[in-house]
Amino acid sequence: MSAPRADARRAYRGRLLTPIAGAAGGPAVRFLDDALLVVGEGGRIADVAPFTPGAFAGPVLNLRPAVLMPGLIDAHVHFPQTRIVGSASGALLEWLERSVFPEEARFRDGGYAALVAAEFTRCLLASGTTTCVAFSSSNAAATDLLFHALLRAGLRGIAGLTLMDQNCPEALCVPRDEAMAAARDLVQRWHGAGGGLLEFAITPRFAPTCSRGLMEAAAQLAADHGLLVQTHVAESPAEGEATLREHPWARDYVDVYDRVGLLSGRAVLAHGIHLAPREWDRIAETRAAIAHCPDSNFFLGSGRMRLSEARARGVPVALGSDVGAGRSFDMRRSMSSAFDNALCLGDRLTPAELFVAATQGAADALGLGHVIGSLDPGKEADFLVVRFPEHVAGEEEALNHLIFASDAVAVQRAFVRGKAVYPF
Ligand SMILES: [Zn+2]
Repeated sequence: MSAPRADARRAYRGRLLTPIAGAAGGPAVRFLDDALLVVGEGGRIADVAPFTPGAFAGPVLNLRPAVLMPGLIDAHVHFPQTRIVGSASGALLEWLERSVFPEEARFRDGGYAALVAAEFTRCLLASGTTTCVAFSSSNAAATDLLFHALLRAGLRGIAGLTLMDQNCPEALCVPRDEAMAAARDLVQRWHGAGGGLLEFAITPRFAPTCSRGLMEAAAQLAADHGLLVQTHVAESPAEGEATLREHPWARDYVDVYDRVGLLSGRAVLAHGIHLAPREWDRIAETRAAIAHCPDSNFFLGSGRMRLSEARARGVPVALGSDVGAGRSFDMRRSMSSAFDNALCLGDRLTPAELFVAATQGAADALGLGHVIGSLDPGKEADFLVVRFPEHVAGEEEALNHLIFASDAVAVQRAFVRGKAVYPF
């Protein structure tokens, strides 16, 4: 009898918490008190099942009582704002002028950009974020360094050169042709790199700082390569007024992006607080998604995003930290703030809904719902090992602690496509 073949698969035993992908009737979560997660070829999940002694032929890494869960997804974060978290310098436009633009100008210095890019990836992984959708600065070399850092860290990332060719300091302003040439170069270098873990995104900062010609050229590049578009919309009333002053040909804020073609493919619009019903309807028609960034909205006093408007129309909603207006890289903070935001509007979200918004729901909003977001066979194994207090038992307590008592809950390990990426 020949010896059994060595099994290249790896198995992890733990408690397990995962969204149920495609659950009918809204967000649903599954909790197993003793489970086995098997990672196979290409870092894909081969099996998830209740643990049975002897059922798996190879060695099993026993991590109980830690909980295995999908890696968290941050659908909106700014890499060059890593060092200005907590800058309480005013509402959106004032905060941009006083805190953001001077800091982002520093990213023309390659040494500084490389240093902060490494910090950025470490902050994400230490918080349990395994996928980020990130804005870079308007500097092409800094954006290149960001991609190098994401690759080195093993993160899954969608990132883009921030486009701005008007109404901004000279140090950040990049004319259309120069910006588009840089974007095309970055697409060639990075879109699909890391075996597909990395994507380049078309990233107009927001309508006030972008000319119509720049946005049209950017939309064309997105269409040519099937790129995700990310930008901001209707974050503050003053920003909305500036948008229509700058683009008087548009009927409203959403119409600016719509008319230039930025909503014709995959689009993720951050905030969406001050939107008229027509704008919500149009977002739904174009199948764009909203990145809801409640902690940032509280910090800048931007207002309350009405989740009910999105839900009534089936608009996908992901959560974003929006660092540096958000005060933490930790998506658990964003989940907790989303709960508070909804309460302010008389709405009560369940912990399961909040958990799904940072995992499967976010993956769906990004068009990655078949690849990541839950622990299901066939998906890529982006997962965390999270330590909970011993007394925490069952789905409800686990979710409550994860989201609302996160001081007592620690991310111990993180994996992307089956590869250990944290601790460093
Ligand atoms: Zn933002």
